[in-house]
Amino acid sequence: MLKDFVPREPVETTLYELVFKLEDGQGSAFAFECDAHGNVYRDRLPRLALHNLDLCLKGEVDGYTVRRGVVRSHLQSYIADGGGRCVCGQSVTIHSSWADSCEGCGREYNNSGQLLADRAFWGEETGESVTDMELEHDPEALGDW
Ligand SMILES: [Zn+2]
Repeated sequence: MLKDFVPREPVETTLYELVFKLEDGQGSAFAFECDAHGNVYRDRLPRLALHNLDLCLKGEVDGYTVRRGVVRSHLQSYIADGGGRCVCGQSVTIHSSWADSCEGCGREYNNSGQLLADRAFWGEETGESVTDMELEHDPEALGDW
């Protein structure tokens, strides 16, 4: 078992963007990442995007009138990595639903943080080979075939 184990868990975050639509721009728009109140994260923008933001705020881009910016939100969900400390002391990240290995000693852990037997012993009770199991659960395990 990984020491100080933290399981993988679903995370939901809300992202906001300030959207400016162009009048007669046939659906063209500019969108800038911002907070819930529409304050754009100006320091994260590349120079050209910053220039475009300033044009939008002035109300005109390339001869098109720009409508007032509207805040839109998006729900983003993902599975956050878990992890813990291996018996060898190395920190291990759990991001697979199947097995993750310690970079320090090679021991493998499942997504509950439990230590797995060496792969050489996998399938001993069922007669399966490691290749059979990798085919069933992890098609990318075979590499470039
Ligand atoms: Zn280890």
